[in-house]
Amino acid sequence: ASSEATFDTTIKRRKTRPVRVGNVTIGGSFPVVVQSMINEDTLDIDGSVAGIRRLHEIGCEIVRVTVPSMAHAKALAEIKQKLIKIYQDVPIVADVHHNGMKIALEVAKHIEKVRINPGLYVFEKPNANRSEFTKTEFDEIGEKVRETLEPLVVSLRDQGKSMRIGVNHGSLAERMLFTYGDTPEGMVESALEFIRICESLDFHNLVISMKASRVPVMVAAYRLMAKRMDELGMDYPLHLGVTEAGDGEYGRIKSTAGIATLLADGIGDTIRVSLTEAPEKEIPVCYSILQALGLRKTMVEYVACPSCGRTLFNLEEVLHKVREATKHLTGLDIAVMGCIVNGPGEMADADYGYVGKTPGYISLYRGREEIKKVPEDKGVEELINLIKADDRWVEP
Ligand code: SF4
Repeated sequence: ASSEATFDTTIKRRKTRPVRVGNVTIGGSFPVVVQSMINEDTLDIDGSVAGIRRLHEIGCEIVRVTVPSMAHAKALAEIKQKLIKIYQDVPIVADVHHNGMKIALEVAKHIEKVRINPGLYVFEKPNANRSEFTKTEFDEIGEKVRETLEPLVVSLRDQGKSMRIGVNHGSLAERMLFTYGDTPEGMVESALEFIRICESLDFHNLVISMKASRVPVMVAAYRLMAKRMDELGMDYPLHLGVTEAGDGEYGRIKSTAGIATLLADGIGDTIRVSLTEAPEKEIPVCYSILQALGLRKTMVEYVACPSCGRTLFNLEEVLHKVREATKHLTGLDIAVMGCIVNGPGEMADADYGYVGKTPGYISLYRGREEIKKVPEDKGVEELINLIKADDRWVEP
């Protein structure tokens, strides 16, 4: 029997209401949903269908498209039909980039979710001083925002569809900017105003985002939003993302720093990693973040030591070989360790271990139990045999 104390390290997610987006649900007890966005022009029907399909096939669960004009909105109807005909239905969210309600209302007919940016609901201020808003002016504009938004809210509500209120730090409406500042507070107030409009119309299929390109701003804004919603008894799910994260290694690290920090706090129900690269490149990053945090397990978890002077084989090469041979499996933890000097516990209780034993030989472990010692050149083959013997192998 183990005398080790147990400590629950599972992330406790903030309680949110489930919001359906077609056949996918965001929030509630559902896994954190992975999203991305196609680069194709929505007027390019075949290109868009192919782009959506490509993303969906590699694990993107909700696909976003952009709708800058009425022609784009109408094209969505064709995209949807074609997608269902040649592939399958995929939940689609459309960005409506302005307060042109006609476009939004057309879009709402064809897809499952509409994303609006409160910062684009800007109305002329009655007096010339644009850097100050009296309470009356603030409220009068608020009333115009409500009137503009109402038909879309009613349409989505009546169709059982959903809306993302997507606040961006870089595009706050000026009355929010001048009243609350270019701050997380301004972002939160901006979202709350739209939430209240939706609630007054009995529409609750809402997902909220508070994106910024600077990680500390983004983290602060989401934390404040979650806190305010909890205080106000609002349980809307949050969509996490760092905008304009860039590309390459730093783009991935920056996105992860923001998204993972919040997820570790239990905040966040759907994520998008925004890279200046092909959208397909975003999906593995999303799944890696979720796997590293133990929120979703979609691939083999590899535990490998960094190697040191004691390492008994070429760790980098062997890890690569083990990964190539086993990466199609799911739900397994496999450890590759240069030696066993610090004991099997160092393997983080992996299901299987590949461990340097003596020069030219490695040991295979099942959990903490050493199963057999084999020559190094037979290591990967024998590891596969062991997994097969346990009936946990599937052919690639
Ligand atoms: Fe070095 Fe062994 Fe630790 Fe790997 S497991 S870093 S080889 S001591």
